[in-house]
Formats: sequence, C-alpha cells, structure tokens
Amino acid sequence: TREITGLTRVYGILADPIHHVKTPQMLNALMAREGRDGVMVPFHVASDDLATLVAGLKAMKSLGGFVVTVPHKTAIVDLCDAVSDSARRIGAVNTVRREADGRLIGEMLDGKGFVGGLLAAGIDPKGKSVYLAGAGGAANAIAFAFVEAGISRLTIANRTRAKAEDLAARLAEAYPAAQVEIGTPDPSGHDIVVNGTSLGLKDGDPLPLDAARLAPEQIVAEVIMQPEETALLAAAKAKGCPIHFGKPMLACQLDLMADFLGMRALPGAGA
Ligand code: NDP
Repeated sequence: TREITGLTRVYGILADPIHHVKTPQMLNALMAREGRDGVMVPFHVASDDLATLVAGLKAMKSLGGFVVTVPHKTAIVDLCDAVSDSARRIGAVNTVRREADGRLIGEMLDGKGFVGGLLAAGIDPKGKSVYLAGAGGAANAIAFAFVEAGISRLTIANRTRAKAEDLAARLAEAYPAAQVEIGTPDPSGHDIVVNGTSLGLKDGDPLPLDAARLAPEQIVAEVIMQPEETALLAAAKAKGCPIHFGKPMLACQLDLMADFLGMRALPGAGA
C-alpha cells in the first residue's frame, strides 16, 4: 500500500451529491500504476458554497487540481483564472489544474473524451456526417469536439428546439465554416448517429430518436454508460448497425484528465 506523506499531491472531485462518483477510485489506481505520489479524495460541496471552497483551494499549495461534475460544471468557469478556448465556448469546465502560483486553469474534456473513445474503437469522425440527439451539457461538449475533429456536417435535434438553435449559433460563431443544422427525430442520411441526451438511463424511457429510420451502414453511439446496452443500442443492433457504448468516453476522459492534471510520473520530476 502507498503511504501518504508531506510530499503527496492532493487532488479532489467536486460534486453534489458525491457518493456515487467513481473517478477517485480510477485515478488513484492510475497514479499507483504510474508510481505517482498523489491521492484523489471527494470534496463534497453545495452550489452555494462553491466559490468559498474554490477560493480556499487556490491557497492550498499541495493541491494538484480537481475534477468537477454535476452540478458545478458551469458555475466553475467563472471561478477559474483561465479556461481553454473550447471550454469557454462550451460554457463548462470539468477538470481544473492548480499551477504553482495558485492560478486555476480549467478545461472541458467530456467531448474530447467522446471523440477519443470513437477513435480508440477505430471510428474516425473526420469527414463524416453526424446526427446528434440532445443539446444539454454532454451534447454541447460533444458537438464542439466533433466540429474540432473535422466532421463534414452536424445535425442537432433536441426536444427543446431553442437549445439546439443556441448550440448551433455558438458553433457557427466559433467555426464559421462548419455545416450545422437543426434536425428532426429522423437520423437518416448521417454516417454517425449519437445519443447525447439522458434518455435511456431509465427503463421505459422513450427512444431519443426514430430508430425505425436507422440503416445498417450507420454507426450508432451512446453517451449513457449504465445500462451498457440502452434500448437505442438494442434497436440499432436489430437494424444491423454497428454500435458504440458510452464507456469508452469515460475511459478516454480519465486518460485526458490524468495528462491535464500531471498525474503521470515524469522521470526525475519532484513532487
Ligand atoms: P443535461 O440535463 O444537460 O441534458 C439532458 C438532455 O437530454 C437534453 O438535451 C434534454 O432535452 C434531453 N432530455 C432529457 N429528458 C428528455 C425527454 N424526456 N425527452 C426528450 N429529451 C430529453 O444532461 P447531460 O448532458 O449532462 O447528460 C446527458 C447524459 O450524458 C446523461 O445520461 C449522462 O449520464 C451522460 N454523460 C455521459 C458521460 C460519459 O462519460 N459517458 C459524461 C457526461 C454525461 P431538453 O433540452 O429538451 O431538456
């Protein structure tokens, strides 16, 4: 077992509720594998106290950084000293690094993790047309990551149309050459079809799109990790479509978080 000493880097995860998070287990195991002297612990904080906690964390010299999840991903943006361009455009941050001078640097890795998970499965979205159901937090991050990955065209379909229009407008502003349109529940005519909504988490949820219209050449991908095979993926499989689970998004994101937070051992690097 590893010993925690006065040199151990401390990392946190900010969430409310927090009992269900799995990131500490996974990143602690990663640091142990890397031989890195660090530990991640839960920082359970309510929204009203977020600013107070973050101000204190800036003063904590042994802090390496923290992961941010529901419900703090949007509120944390303005509490960082700097955020990446894509995090600024998405309007959300899920990973924050503390620099030696106390500055907090925010990044949003949800979308990059999703695209990285596709790439790891041998699916390169470059030049492909993408249908995305949803316009919430996950869908926003995924939409930006797809455009950054060089897809040929994006169709966004969301129950609340205004949110899809708002996302399309922000994409067009950031990437004037991007082909973005608002769609219907019909995903026909796209190479990759993605569920970016929360529909499918619960038994009996309606499908997030019209699965009867799926054709066998379309790749159908999920953000939902549990259940692993959602009703949408089952319907897609029955139609003969290749399917892509939600899990690889998380696996890839953990790698990106570890890199961003400096959790990998650098030969000769001090604590
Ligand atoms: P949000 O609450 O921000 O967005 C929810 C989305 O689902 C919206 O587009 C919403 O539409 C839509 N939606 C919800 N209920 C319905 C309904 N009854 N009918 C039609 N549309 C509906 O959630 P997130 O974006 O943060 O999370 C979405 C999913 O992504 C979750 O299931 C989460 O588990 C998953 N996720 C997975 C990650 C991974 O690593 N695999 C990482 C992050 C999230 P509307 O705008 O109309 O409300």
